[in-house]
Amino acid sequence: MSNKPSPDEHGIVITRARAHNLKDVCLAIPKGVITVFTGVSGSGKSSVVFDTIAVESQRQLNETFPAFVRNRLPKYEKPEADGIGNLSPAIVVDQRPLGGGSRSTVGTMTDIASLVRLLFSRAGTPSAGMSTAYSFNDPSGACPTCQGLGRTVQLDLDRFFDTGKSLNTGALLFPLFNVGGVQWTLFTRSGLFDNDKPLRSYTRREWRTLLHGGADGEVRIELATRKGTQNVVYEGIVDRFNRLYLNRDLSTLSKRTRDAVEEFTADAECPDCHGARLNAAALKTRIDGLNIADHMAMEITDLIGVLEKIDHPLGTPIAKAAIEGLRRIEDIGLGYLHLGRETASLSGGEGQRLKIVRNLGSSLTGMTYIFDEPSTGLHPRDVNRVGRLLTQLRDQGNTLLIVEHDRDVIALADHVVDMGPGAGTHGGQVVFEGSVARLRKAGTLTGRHLGRTLPLKTEVRTPTGHLAVTGASRHNLKDVCVDIPTGVLVAVTGVAGSGKSTLISEVFTEQHPEAVVIDQSPIGVNSRSTPATWLGIMDTVRKLFAEANGVPAGLFSFNSTGACPACGGKGSVTADMAFADPVTTVCETCRGLRYSAEALAHTLRGKTVTDVLALTAEEACAFFTGRGENSVRTALETLVEVGLGYLTLGQPLSTLSGGERQRLKLAGHLGSRSGVYVMDEPTTGLHMADIETLQRLLDRLVDDGNTVIVIEHNLDIVKRADRVLDMGPEGGRHGGQVLFTGTPAQLLKHRTSHTARALRQDLN
Ligand code: ADP
Ligand code: ADP
Ligand code: ZN
Ligand code: ZN
Repeated sequence: MSNKPSPDEHGIVITRARAHNLKDVCLAIPKGVITVFTGVSGSGKSSVVFDTIAVESQRQLNETFPAFVRNRLPKYEKPEADGIGNLSPAIVVDQRPLGGGSRSTVGTMTDIASLVRLLFSRAGTPSAGMSTAYSFNDPSGACPTCQGLGRTVQLDLDRFFDTGKSLNTGALLFPLFNVGGVQWTLFTRSGLFDNDKPLRSYTRREWRTLLHGGADGEVRIELATRKGTQNVVYEGIVDRFNRLYLNRDLSTLSKRTRDAVEEFTADAECPDCHGARLNAAALKTRIDGLNIADHMAMEITDLIGVLEKIDHPLGTPIAKAAIEGLRRIEDIGLGYLHLGRETASLSGGEGQRLKIVRNLGSSLTGMTYIFDEPSTGLHPRDVNRVGRLLTQLRDQGNTLLIVEHDRDVIALADHVVDMGPGAGTHGGQVVFEGSVARLRKAGTLTGRHLGRTLPLKTEVRTPTGHLAVTGASRHNLKDVCVDIPTGVLVAVTGVAGSGKSTLISEVFTEQHPEAVVIDQSPIGVNSRSTPATWLGIMDTVRKLFAEANGVPAGLFSFNSTGACPACGGKGSVTADMAFADPVTTVCETCRGLRYSAEALAHTLRGKTVTDVLALTAEEACAFFTGRGENSVRTALETLVEVGLGYLTLGQPLSTLSGGERQRLKLAGHLGSRSGVYVMDEPTTGLHMADIETLQRLLDRLVDDGNTVIVIEHNLDIVKRADRVLDMGPEGGRHGGQVLFTGTPAQLLKHRTSHTARALRQDLN
């Protein structure tokens, strides 16, 4: 770091930050305490915390490396601000997927897997060797067949055969084994089969021979080829397929063959280790009858119980160390996971909480930890558990910056920075700084909402019918059969890991494929998409400009003839400098306007096309009032209605926050009828005031005749649902059941449900 560490009371100092919508923000953030950033979605919290503080910290850290190292690190541009000082190294604990491929598991990322391996090498019998002997990431431990992946690519037998047909009539569906072809001849000339017998009538023995070759030893087939007669040894279809297409360098195959192979293969459990990833020697070692794969497949809560029973001079201390780590995971409500679970399959909230656990184990102090909504995915019951972890991290001597909307997490703050007053151009300012107690009395939107408790909805809508889910048993679901009411707003609740996403996002949407899932994921369009292109109004806007000026419409597109010749319509030029930070500068020719001079010479009622793209949706509604402009105005009005009136028509969609993206997607569905919409935690990233806007939108969708199903922890949404479906009773193996279906008022009386208890507390 270039500046010397200074005493904590100085705090992080930011002067005149201008990233995105920030309006010369000046801040002094105390060190060694928890600061929570609040404010409506789009007010500028991330612009301060992630795009200014975290980026500058990373950039300064990179500067301390020699040039040849720096050159390989990701490059960070200097954030737009006059000064950012007194930073400490920052660790961003966000919800980005953990990834890491299939070799990254809960056990490997928390390092508990290495303790379990150590345990087996010291206390297991018979021993397979040192600890690497139990690692699927090491050749000495890995299953040789799948190389430690637990899964292999295999011939998909269901696709390969049409069992209603015989070999002669085309039972082999793989195109390279077609009737009349060389491969087909190998089977029909083998003399091993009745070529006219449909496969479904084959005996077990015939099937075995077809798939894996003769049990009676080698069979030779005489084939007449152009070069004369050839003797070929018979191979079963699976062996032959593997040899020809799987166990070889795929790049030597033609693209057509590779495509066909891909279509006829599937990723399936490894036939040798059955998913355990380890070789036979490693799996033979046992402690109290269980092998290491059993340990890795057990829910963490159960594993703690097993490890506690270990009584062995070398094993006990190792088991104790593992238990300490496992308890931390259990403490934050993830006891339903198992160490073998691939991190790529975890939800964003689960991943973030595991990252917290990993950092708690470290002895680093004086760091700045930055969190993005750590309450995501957590039931109200478990929010205080995360709260304990966060305060522990602070007490180890760290600074915590947290972007959060949850009342219980805000309550933990030693210091609050409230951004606002509104979103986008209406925000970008610090409207309050100070303690939570003072925030409650401050007149800001956050302050006003903090003290407010919404009443339970009593006038609920009556369902118009139902959609059934039957025999749901994926993951932890216990053969669930349940009717989901239609024509109403349904809240699906339950502690993390109880099975909400599995039931709704997986099983329900598979059994009812007409359901539309609206999430916060990036909008799958190109980098030039904007609210205007998303709403589909750009064609009309271009036509209006063309008609007013008597020129072709293409002139008003920066993707077409209207593009600025210097920057190709990007508006900026990025100079990538080998040994310094990249610099993005505004294009000198068009001054960032993206269009050619010719396009900008034409106007519509006094505005050029870039003037129009710089209008907010609100402003544009007032501008497009002419004849033939109704469709444009109506589309823009939906944006205002979903609370995005502050977005400009030309803002790249890639810069929208998750909450903004979600509302943009909702805007596209307003006005539709009798649809079924599914949303997983739609309140993520939303302020209490944004949640009111969201609630109005959901109500409007339902009033129009749609069914809306939301997986939610936010009690404000649960209280205003028409029906609640509560899962539980706990997470993982101890969950997977529907505990309750009914109205919120009925749920309140439930004796054991955690959601009912949280509701009662909230209403008190
Ligand atoms: P919050 O974190 O409070 O939800 P953000 O800091 O993400 O808000 O965004 C503040 C405003 O800046 C929003 O209007 C958002 O659309 C806009 N914004 C965010 N990123 C970019 C960007 N890369 N370019 C332009 N505008 C952006
Ligand atoms: P919720 O949505 O209520 O938090 P989930 O449906 O995500 O719960 O999880 C229910 C159970 O299924 C948990 O035990 C979880 O670990 C397990 N599970 C979820 N996804 C996967 C997966 N991809 N692989 C293995 N287990 C999974
Ligand atoms: Zn294997
Ligand atoms: Zn240009």
